[in-house]
Amino acid sequence: MALDSTEGSLKERGVRLTRQRQILLELIDRTGAHLDVEQLYRMAKERDPKINRVTVYRTVKMLKSGGLVDELDLMHYEGDQHYYETRLKQEHAHVVCLRCGRVEEFFGEPLQRLRKQIESHFGFQILVARTEVGGYCAHCQTLRAREVQAVRHDAESAAKAPGGAHTRRAHTRPE
Ligand SMILES: [Zn+2]
Ligand SMILES: [Zn+2]
Repeated sequence: MALDSTEGSLKERGVRLTRQRQILLELIDRTGAHLDVEQLYRMAKERDPKINRVTVYRTVKMLKSGGLVDELDLMHYEGDQHYYETRLKQEHAHVVCLRCGRVEEFFGEPLQRLRKQIESHFGFQILVARTEVGGYCAHCQTLRAREVQAVRHDAESAAKAPGGAHTRRAHTRPE
């Protein structure tokens, strides 16, 4: 259903939907995931072995400028990478774990409320809003607590050992 409306708006814009473009659009639309160009390329290749990277890049660019997909950087968790998702999903915030890279989507009324508040506060008409939150997921918080403990434990035993922690660090970690 969602895909039909995407195709409709493409036709309105006079964009011809070739088979390969169709494959890419379907992938972005139906997976509902946040895919980078490389992932898209690999998935598309399974459906059409003749598809090439250039087509993937061009199509993504076209879908983006046509307002059909959103480009995200997800807190730059993996560097300069960009990720794409369909614009047809309801507005949501991305909650990114900066340790494991897990991405959660937060849907909810507070986002709409924030949008309205910003619009009335600045007399602004919002066309696009992107909310990203970075931090540690529950799982990674546990792991981090363990790591901190382990580091502390190491430091304590190093301090007790002959030679002490300071001299050892100075040798192993030149700045
Ligand atoms: Zn995590
Ligand atoms: Zn999303």
